[in-house]
Amino acid sequence: MRLEITGIMKFGLLASTLLVSTDLLIGWYLRQKNRSPRLNEVFFVMSNALSCCPHTAKEDAIKKCPNPHCKAKLSRKIIEHIDSAKHLICIAMYMFTMIHISDAVMNAKRRGVNIRIISDSSMIASSNSQINRFQKSGINVRIAGDGDLYMHNKFCLIDVLSGEKSKENTHPLNGVLINGSMNWTANGFDRNWENILFTSDEHLKSEYKQAFDYIWSRIE
Ligand SMILES: [Zn+2]
Repeated sequence: MRLEITGIMKFGLLASTLLVSTDLLIGWYLRQKNRSPRLNEVFFVMSNALSCCPHTAKEDAIKKCPNPHCKAKLSRKIIEHIDSAKHLICIAMYMFTMIHISDAVMNAKRRGVNIRIISDSSMIASSNSQINRFQKSGINVRIAGDGDLYMHNKFCLIDVLSGEKSKENTHPLNGVLINGSMNWTANGFDRNWENILFTSDEHLKSEYKQAFDYIWSRIE
């Protein structure tokens, strides 16, 4: 009799362990299934970028370029992310002179994407600055003024939405953060050692969005 009870207890223990394990496994599977695809990619501009493809190179040629630090690949990548925007683009950029990226921003405006740009007063006087072009086209631009801190950030948020709006986000990655050392200038792409990060990390996107909104409100 004692042997039978012990056997039943062992069977019960095994069955409940199996049930708990299956439950945990199903929970993990559902969490993975519902999770947005992730993006975490870092790009370094190295000295060999100088002799690599020009930004005007054809898309196929850029794709075939074997140099992982190809500057044209980087500018294409930024443009592709801007092209993917459906709702909102927030750009905080100390210097912005890259015409190819500026064209992508203008195209996004034509698609009806809401655009906010923050820059710095010390840099907009440059004849190559794209900030004047944005202002003339009616894009929302705010400039950190004299006597304030330099607005030295170089980041961009693609479809990072907060509050109620986030429920209607149709961006495939639920938004992207682009951040790094590089101004969007010819020098940034062609002359400097730089780094730039592309991420869909929810925590980082939220932190940068809050910072953007704070700067935006401070320089109104
Ligand atoms: Zn190249």
